[in-house]
Amino acid sequence: MNRPKILILGAGYGGLTTAVNLQKKIGVNVADITIVNKNSYHYESTWLHEASAGTLSPERVRYEIKDVLNSKVNFVQASVESLDVNNKKVITDAGEMSYDYLVVGLGFEGETFGIEGLDKYALGIANVNEARKIRDHINTQFAEWATQAPAEKDDSLLTIIVGGAGFTGIEFLGELANRIPELSKEYDVPQEKIRIICVEAAPVVLPMFSRELVEYAVGHLTKKGIEFSIGTPVVQATEEGVKIKKGEDEFEFIKAGTVVWAAGVRGSRIVEESDLPSNRARIAVEKDLRVPGYPEVFIVGDCAFMLNEEAGRPYPPTAQIAMQQAVVAAENLIALIEGNDTKEFTPELKGTVCSLGDSDAIGEVFGKEITGKYASFMKKVIDNRALYMVGGAGLVLKKGKFNVL
Ligand code: FAD
Repeated sequence: MNRPKILILGAGYGGLTTAVNLQKKIGVNVADITIVNKNSYHYESTWLHEASAGTLSPERVRYEIKDVLNSKVNFVQASVESLDVNNKKVITDAGEMSYDYLVVGLGFEGETFGIEGLDKYALGIANVNEARKIRDHINTQFAEWATQAPAEKDDSLLTIIVGGAGFTGIEFLGELANRIPELSKEYDVPQEKIRIICVEAAPVVLPMFSRELVEYAVGHLTKKGIEFSIGTPVVQATEEGVKIKKGEDEFEFIKAGTVVWAAGVRGSRIVEESDLPSNRARIAVEKDLRVPGYPEVFIVGDCAFMLNEEAGRPYPPTAQIAMQQAVVAAENLIALIEGNDTKEFTPELKGTVCSLGDSDAIGEVFGKEITGKYASFMKKVIDNRALYMVGGAGLVLKKGKFNVL
C-alpha cells in the first residue's frame, strides 16, 4: 500500500510545530511528510515588534527551517498560490502538490478594515520583510530630517503614528520608546522633537488586561514620551499622515513621516479564496481541528477559528494556541493513519505577557497579575520556551533571550 502523503502549508508556529511533532512521534516510513513555506526560514512572529523598532536584528528573529527537521520531513521552499481542496491538490509557484492529509498553517495578514489609504500609506508588522521596512523607513525619515537646511526642517518626519493599542501596537510602542534615545543620538535629532502617537478607535487600551495592568502600561509608556489618542478612529491615511475622528463632526489631521498599522489581523487570503468555508479568512474547525466536510484537512494557528464556549467569544489568534493545536493535529494525523479515533483540542491558557520594551512588561500568568522586571523575565521565558518546543536546547542557546536585568 502507498504511504499516505501529509502536506503541511506554512512553517510558522502552527505548521512547523506540527512537522516537528510528527517527526518525533511517527514511525519511520509510515507517511510521506512535506512542509511548504515561502521562505527558507521560520520567523518568530511574536518578536517582530522588536525587529520593526530596530531593537533586535531581523537575523535574531529567524532560523533556517531545515535546521530543525530530520529526514522524516521533506522541506519545499515555495509560495502557496491556491488550494484545490475538492481534488486534494495545492498549487504553488514550484508546481502542483497532491495530498492525502493537509495541514493549513498559513498564518495571519494585516487587516485594514477598508480604511481609505491604509493599504498604500501605512506599514504593517506581519513578517520579517515588513519589519525591516519599518525599521529602514524610520531611519530614512530621520536621516532626511538631518540633511534638511535648518530653516526648512520638516519636523513631521520625526513623528511616528502607531495605529492600534492592542497587543502588537503596545509591544511595538514599548520598543520604540527604548529606541528613541538611540535614534536621537544617531541622527543628531533633539529628543523633544520626536513624537510617537498611538491612535486607537476603541475606548480602551489592551482590552484583554485588567484596569490596573493597563494603567501600569500606559503610565510607563507615557513617562517615556508616548502620546495616546484613544477613542479616535483613523478614517484616512495619506502620504502626509492620518486623519482621525475626534467627535461627531470633528476631525484632526496628524502629519507624520511614518505610519504603522498594528490594529488588526485576519487569516490568510489563500484560505479565504479556497472552497473551504471561511469567515474573514478563518475557518471554524471541528473540535479535533478538522474542517467540516473535509475530514482530511486540518487547520492550525491564525487561520483556525474556535469558540471559547465558557467565555462566549472566540479564542484569540495567538502563538500559544497555534503551538498547542499543532501538537494535537500531529497526534490526530497519526491516529487517522493508524485507524484510531482523533482527540479533541482544548486550549490550555497559561497566561499572556505584553512587553513594554526590553526590561518591563505586564501580564497575567496562571491567574496572577505581574508587572515590571519579573514580568519581563517571564516574557523571555515564554519566548525561549517557544524555541525549545521546536528546536530543543540547541536552538534556545543559539537564538534565545538571556539578557535578564
Ligand atoms: P505564522 O506564525 O504567521 O506563520 C505562517 C507561516 O506561513 C509563515 O512562515 C509564512 O511565511 C508562511 N506563509 C504565509 N503565506 C504563505 C504562502 N502563500 N506560501 C507559503 N508560505 C506561506 N501571540 C502570542 O501567543 N503571544 C505573544 O506575545 C504575541 N505577540 C505578538 C507580537 C507581534 C508583533 C505579532 C505580529 C503577533 C504576536 N502574537 C503573539 C500573535 C502570533 O504571532 C500569531 O498568533 C502566530 O504567529 C500565529 O501562528 P501561525 O502558525 O498561524 O502563523
